[in-house]
Amino acid sequence: MSANPAQAAGADVAQLRQLIGSCTACELCRGTKLAVPGEGPVPTEIMFIGEAPGYHEDQQGTPFIGASGQFLAELLGKIGLERSQVFITNVVKHRPPGNRDPLPDEMAACRPYLDRQIALIDPRMIVTLGRFSMARWFPGGRISQIHGQPKTVDGRLVVPMYHPAAALHQGALKATIEADFLKLPRYLAEARQGLLTAEESAKPQVEQGRLF
Ligand code: URA
Repeated sequence: MSANPAQAAGADVAQLRQLIGSCTACELCRGTKLAVPGEGPVPTEIMFIGEAPGYHEDQQGTPFIGASGQFLAELLGKIGLERSQVFITNVVKHRPPGNRDPLPDEMAACRPYLDRQIALIDPRMIVTLGRFSMARWFPGGRISQIHGQPKTVDGRLVVPMYHPAAALHQGALKATIEADFLKLPRYLAEARQGLLTAEESAKPQVEQGRLF
């Protein structure tokens, strides 16, 4: 039986995987091999949200395992983390044909799954990878202007980052995304100490020194 995304609201982790795996709420499921719900511990402190599965992810049902996934793993390594310590998912859970951008109605159809994942994972910090996940928390934001600059929403720190694939395609962005990643441990430490609150959200980052 195909799933209705509205059922996600009360689902536990296993139920959510099942709902996503059988979802036919939008066109994206057609022609795909596997849904890609996401993976990682639940709950956990850090959640990465990318755009959409690509070819390799569709084949294996696992997010970020192609070239951008390898780069993501490398970036995590630079801050002493392994993939298994963070939750990784995407805005849409099925691969768009030919890796095209996800459409607004596809992202809207998939949103209850992401909402439920965020509720279950309960991350202290959400890192958006690329403009589609960024748009949810930074509507109208331009990645070139706001990358690496967090704001607090509903008690969670949200950090917009370039998509690792963008850095792979444009060499100049590689150093930028690496520098942004290196800020994450400090952001997380500050979030743990409660130094970042919803009320203090969206302050622009200063060049050096403390953020808030
Ligand atoms: N790009 C994404 O945004 N997500 C993946 O899972 C793989 C590549």
